[in-house]
Amino acid sequence: MSSSLESLKIGIIGFGPFAQFLAITLVKQGHTLSATSRSDHSELSSRLGINFFRDIETFLEFNNDVILLCTSIVSLSEVVKSIPFHLLKKPNTLFVDVLSVKIYPRDLLLQVLPESMDLLCTHPMFGPESGRDGWHGLPFVFDKIRIRDQDICSRFLQIFEQEGCRMVEMSCEEHDKQAARSQFLTHTIGRVLSEMDIKSTSMDTKGFQTLIQLKESTVKDSFDLYSGLFIHNKLAQQELKNLELALQTVKQRLLDRMEIE
Ligand code: NAP
Repeated sequence: MSSSLESLKIGIIGFGPFAQFLAITLVKQGHTLSATSRSDHSELSSRLGINFFRDIETFLEFNNDVILLCTSIVSLSEVVKSIPFHLLKKPNTLFVDVLSVKIYPRDLLLQVLPESMDLLCTHPMFGPESGRDGWHGLPFVFDKIRIRDQDICSRFLQIFEQEGCRMVEMSCEEHDKQAARSQFLTHTIGRVLSEMDIKSTSMDTKGFQTLIQLKESTVKDSFDLYSGLFIHNKLAQQELKNLELALQTVKQRLLDRMEIE
């Protein structure tokens, strides 16, 4: 077997909905998984064949090749600052984050991680809903921030290549710029539609059905996730202003037209 197909020991910090979704595929590919989290996920972990540790100390002693950070955006700082890094067995462990914003975790991790640890910032652009039937063709965005052990890094990236993801290497800056105008906008419109409580009618158009689907899929993600997209991406804050302005412009056009009728 070539080294690129060897299985990895992956430790997950933050075993919420997204980590659980990723874990199913990681286990299927033959990787050895362990996890720790704020809440007790030991029952589900044991069903998935994953070692779950309530305390981070024992978790860190597991000698992982990769530590995958899957906590919410808003809790990342608290979580990483509580990691006792000196307990890590491998001095050059690869840290990977999957947060839906990228400049924020990169800067925070560069501050907090010991210099000897490698860092790969990623954003799988799919989740339990959109990746339910497989990851083929779905974008996987990544930025190699500090990689010295190329072998471990490429073996980690191969997890997603093997599932047919579209691999997109991109700077964290470019990611946040594009995500603010796409993902954040999508979530915001979905949340607005949910606030309006739109419901299917007996005469739905295709367009309206798309809006219903959008509403239903966005509210499945936690408010922590959505607020993290806003709080930790300055460009998202600008996009919200642009959206408000655009709504006012459209409304004004209608009012102007009404006046000349
Ligand atoms: P989330 O609400 O963003 O995060 C849930 C996770 O954060 C859980 O593991 C939870 O731990 C942990 N957490 C929350 N507050 C905490 C605190 N104060 N201290 C310690 N841990 C805390 O939901 P998610 O969908 O699972 O997303 C996880 C990460 O993946 C996020 O960074 C998100 O941006 C990213 N992501 C999500 C998707 C998606 O489709 N959902 C796609 C790509 C990337 P417990 O479970 O132990 O309570």
